[in-house]
Amino acid sequence: MIPFLDLKAINIQYRNELITACTRVIDSGWYIGGNELAQFERDFANYCGTSHAIGVANGLDALILVLRAWIELGRLRDGDEVIVPANTYIASILAISANGLTPVLVEPDRNSYNLCPDKLQQAITKKTRAILPVHLYGQIADMPAIMAIADAHNLLVLEDCAQAHGAIAKGKKAGNWGHAAGFSFYPGKNLGALGDAGAVTTSDDQLAETLRALRNYGSHEKYKNLFKGVNSRLDEIQAAMLSVKLKYLDQETDHRRQIARIYTDNITNPSIDLPVDQADLSSENCAGHVFHLYVIRTDSRQALQKHLALHGVQTLIHYPIPPHQQQAYAEWNDRNYPLTESLHREVLSLPMGPTVSLTQAQQVVQAVNSFQGQGE
Ligand SMILES: *Cc1c(COP(=O)(O)O)cnc(C)c1O
Repeated sequence: MIPFLDLKAINIQYRNELITACTRVIDSGWYIGGNELAQFERDFANYCGTSHAIGVANGLDALILVLRAWIELGRLRDGDEVIVPANTYIASILAISANGLTPVLVEPDRNSYNLCPDKLQQAITKKTRAILPVHLYGQIADMPAIMAIADAHNLLVLEDCAQAHGAIAKGKKAGNWGHAAGFSFYPGKNLGALGDAGAVTTSDDQLAETLRALRNYGSHEKYKNLFKGVNSRLDEIQAAMLSVKLKYLDQETDHRRQIARIYTDNITNPSIDLPVDQADLSSENCAGHVFHLYVIRTDSRQALQKHLALHGVQTLIHYPIPPHQQQAYAEWNDRNYPLTESLHREVLSLPMGPTVSLTQAQQVVQAVNSFQGQGE
């Protein structure tokens, strides 16, 4: 079976370095808020091109805490509207609700599945205060257009970069386009820890300072509490693991792109739609997309998934139920977002990752091309 994602194979490549880093932390006697975190925060901010990276416990907290910090700083308040793509992973939306803000769902662009600037523009009301674009599946959203709209309407922009470490548009990386960005280092993400971890990137000094307090009980200085904060920290062991893996991120991304290239160039099955790499629309290279996922579409998904399993190819669905149809958002269950709903019915993710071999990718291509469609 070609696994969808082989985490063990990914981490075993760096086993010796990871163990050395782990031993260093154990022997240091310092486990929270030390040199490992400071080093990773500097390296990751450098990597993204921002002034700051602030480590937190996970990606959802990164998003929650940025919005919370903006509330503390008086830039957002209860009931303000935040525009978010309807087809995102639910965490983006949970971060908005968790802060008493109002999520405004908009349908995505039909080619990139990312926030569509025209529909974004139409969704702006007098109460709109922020935009939460998601770089879904590893492809950066149309940030030049989104930032132009944000500037024109004086809106804050929080990028959800959980799937887009290193994605780039016009030479600027994901995490450096908006006023702040949330990253997840969940083990299966492109930059994955060996447990939960996350970070915020920003070049706003005041926001960075507020976040450093919020993640630590609201305290800037020991035993002085400026805010009613939380405990959401990125611990030393995970920071040390991430520093090892950050060095290999670009190399791993190149490999993901190679696998994607094999899929895109060789899958010819007419019943299947391939991802549109927007960078390809204007240039020869596909530099923008980091292929967290390689997501195809078909109206006979169930049959295709079964066919692929029979041919030794494991696939997953990202995601089977859209947020507005979840019980958690019962208040939205009677709404219709036709494009979002069709995506959730039709998408299928092929094996993708730094340890999928070129031969395995060719086998996936053959299995996909041998699918006969509905009647099978
Ligand atoms: C994974 C993910 C998150 C949440 O990250 P966690 O670290 O799991 O909390 C948020 N948004 C998107 C788009 C994600 O894929």
